[in-house]
Amino acid sequence: MNHDRHVPEQAEPADGGAIAPDRPRVAAPAEEAITVATAAADASTTIEALLANPLRDPRDKRLPRVAGPCVLVLFGVTGDLARRKLLPAIYDLGNRGLLPPGFSLVGFARRDWANQDFAQVTHDAIKENARTPFREEVWKQLAEGIHFVPGEFSDDGAFDTLATTLAEIDEKRGTGGNYAFYLSVPPKFFPVVVKQLKRTGLANPPEGAWRRVVIEKPFGHDLASAKELNEITSAVFPEESVFRIDHYLGKETVQNIMALRFANNLFEPIWNRGYVDHVQITMAEDIGIGGRAGYYDGIGAARDVIQNHLLQLLALVAMEDPTSFDADALRREKEKVLKAVRLPHDLALSTARGQYAAGWQGGEPVVGYLDEDGIPLDSTTETYAAVKLEIANRRWAGVPFYLRTGKRLGRRVTEVAVVFQRAPHLPFSEDDTEILGQNALVVRVQPDEGITVRFGSKVPGTAMEVRDVSMDFAYGESFMESSPEAYERLLLDVLIGDPPLFPHQREVELSWKILDPIEDHWSAQGQPEEYPSGSWGPASSDEMMARDGRVWRRL
Ligand code: NAP
Repeated sequence: MNHDRHVPEQAEPADGGAIAPDRPRVAAPAEEAITVATAAADASTTIEALLANPLRDPRDKRLPRVAGPCVLVLFGVTGDLARRKLLPAIYDLGNRGLLPPGFSLVGFARRDWANQDFAQVTHDAIKENARTPFREEVWKQLAEGIHFVPGEFSDDGAFDTLATTLAEIDEKRGTGGNYAFYLSVPPKFFPVVVKQLKRTGLANPPEGAWRRVVIEKPFGHDLASAKELNEITSAVFPEESVFRIDHYLGKETVQNIMALRFANNLFEPIWNRGYVDHVQITMAEDIGIGGRAGYYDGIGAARDVIQNHLLQLLALVAMEDPTSFDADALRREKEKVLKAVRLPHDLALSTARGQYAAGWQGGEPVVGYLDEDGIPLDSTTETYAAVKLEIANRRWAGVPFYLRTGKRLGRRVTEVAVVFQRAPHLPFSEDDTEILGQNALVVRVQPDEGITVRFGSKVPGTAMEVRDVSMDFAYGESFMESSPEAYERLLLDVLIGDPPLFPHQREVELSWKILDPIEDHWSAQGQPEEYPSGSWGPASSDEMMARDGRVWRRL
């Protein structure tokens, strides 16, 4: 998010083609607002045209952030993530005019496909899952740059073919040797692919070009394995070329936590132990593990969600203001707060875990975790995890941060709730404030993105009765444009080389340091407590809150 450099150095395509303009940030029908890059146009003319666009907000003098010439190599293109998120996001970027004319996409997987087969799969994934409308001319331009390399990750020959293919693409499409390697593959293959990239020389850019590697979570299984993975990666790619994806950081609502806190004077003065009672961070899913038994079992809710998404949310909510939003400044503040996180002394009383049993979801009966396909009958993997954390610094001492996540809960919702202390004195009769709760500021991360402030208000009538009401900000109502998907934002940042929204290895290690003792404690406990599918988790989680005189928010 370095706003000083919206047009990166490589922004001008090698063939002198257009820099494709971003959509203006004003309401406009999608068709009119989108301009597709054409190789014929001249870059400076296009930027002038963009700035002269009558639909553009005249106060907006920023230049668009557009990727320069490059190739995206996608390992694991037949996987779930590629089909649902990555391929559609690439199209959406193209549709918004943020990819350069020569942009090329290379898929790598074990199928015996020709380029056309991969193009067809990409086309279908886009039709099914893209955010922006399908436009034939955008698809045609993208399809011209689609290639496929079949092979096993252990197959040297396949990687040699990949190297030859990339050199040919550079020659034909002016991509300048700039490659991003996206590892959308099971974690055990990260080292194999990285070593292949080293062996073939693909990890080393020629003068003036760049090479980047994108790694999906989980970044290891614990602190030791995270360090091990990093040693392998850092032996091949320098830290500034490694982009670790935590897709929560690509969400508009998550980035808005920083805007809310640091662009306003309304909230920050009370954002501390003097006013905040506690913080609840929740990521609830209504679905079970689906077809992902192989990935999920042995990992569980805490490693899958708390180690990355929830601790990143905690860091953004609790950190001090960074001196700027460049990567170093932002990461430094997140690291400081992660370093200050403390576990309560008694983990048995301040953590809870559970495993979903049979129950109901959306009016349908569903099976329990142990009856899901591919799950061993004696699995002790938790599908629900809750922890209480404290932050040992001047701002937060004594304010608990409660984190919870689970599958097969009542509904899908992610939110951060900052719950404030009660007013020190209520000059009303007890009867009139009997059901008045605590003030809260809730960042609704998903779905129904926005912010809610809960406060007490007089009930109309002759008595002085006070009850809770809510004031809402909803993205959909305040901004006429729909928010980009997290993967759109993050893929563009990778191609531009803008790292603030990607966790540094130090953050990854600090998060494992927090989680490892909890995992050790749980592994000695045997079977997790059952909770019925469709409920809000195990009783021990409510008991954990009750011991502190608090309750989980009803969602
Ligand atoms: P997936 O559905 O299991 O796909 C894995 C991909 O890797 C497939 O394309 C598979 O190709 C390929 N592959 C596996 N072994 C291979 C080998 N030996 N040689 C060549 N290709 C091989 O996984 P996914 O759900 O897409 O997840 C990908 C990554 O993203 C994982 O690291 C996961 O943890 C992470 N992630 C996923 C999600 C999600 O929502 N899915 C969310 C967050 C993070 P074949 O078709 O040939 O098997």
